[in-house]
Amino acid sequence: FMRQLEETERLEALGILAGGVAHDFNNALATILGTAALVAEDLGPDHPSQPDIERIRASAQRSADLTSQLLIFARQEPRRAQAIDVAAALRGIEDLIRRTIGEDIDFSCQLADHLAPVRIDRSDLEQVILNLAVNARAAMPGGGSLRISVGAVTLPDAATPPPPLPAGRYVHIAVTDTGTGMSPEVISHAFEPFFTTKPVGQGTGLGLANAYGVVTQANGHITLDSEPGRGTTVNLYLPAIAAADRDAPAPAGAAPEGHA
Ligand code: ADP
Repeated sequence: FMRQLEETERLEALGILAGGVAHDFNNALATILGTAALVAEDLGPDHPSQPDIERIRASAQRSADLTSQLLIFARQEPRRAQAIDVAAALRGIEDLIRRTIGEDIDFSCQLADHLAPVRIDRSDLEQVILNLAVNARAAMPGGGSLRISVGAVTLPDAATPPPPLPAGRYVHIAVTDTGTGMSPEVISHAFEPFFTTKPVGQGTGLGLANAYGVVTQANGHITLDSEPGRGTTVNLYLPAIAAADRDAPAPAGAAPEGHA
């Protein structure tokens, strides 16, 4: 438990640091974008330097996209957390996932019916799942299978290792691939912002850091079950909310349904 606590605090500190950097960086990028637009306008549409200015603009925009991802991770408050049906959210992005990962991956979704709602920002959750699918895809260069399952669990149960969450009802999302898997060393750093094993320019190291941020802000938990050569399962546990609480504002640190 102590290890878990230290890990949480370490990630929190890293998040605050990264958030501060991202914020300052965003201001600088806004200046670059704004000035590039002014210069482009001054020179007129036919000026030979326009393609160069466009390259400056596109590059600054890519950096701005990256910092906005970083700010999601660092954000302490949930954005537009609402009671949502996770299975319905998944159904909405199933086709997008299939198109994103490509035809050589065998993709299946197992979605339970009549799930209790969870309180989370829907587009944050969709972004997280999509990032996990993209990671899975990258881990299966020679093809393989990706399975996303969504179901109800009551914790604690026989699951090993048990996630450090209050007893109660949760919605469990498992994203399982048959890819390269991760070594214990990679697992121990995987949630840190900027940690990546991908070549420069290919990985941001923010996918799992974002997932961690989004899930913990929703009072949930994320775990990795992975082994080199076998593949990876990313588990997300999100507190189920009782139907009666559906439209109530989320109390800070709300306990899941079934927890007195
Ligand atoms: P990025 O994908 O940009 O590297 P992430 O935070 O999403 O950043 O992932 C961090 C690292 O964790 C990856 O570089 C990779 O080494 C490892 N990883 C993440 N997901 C998987 C997966 N499904 N299979 C194997 N390794 C993974």
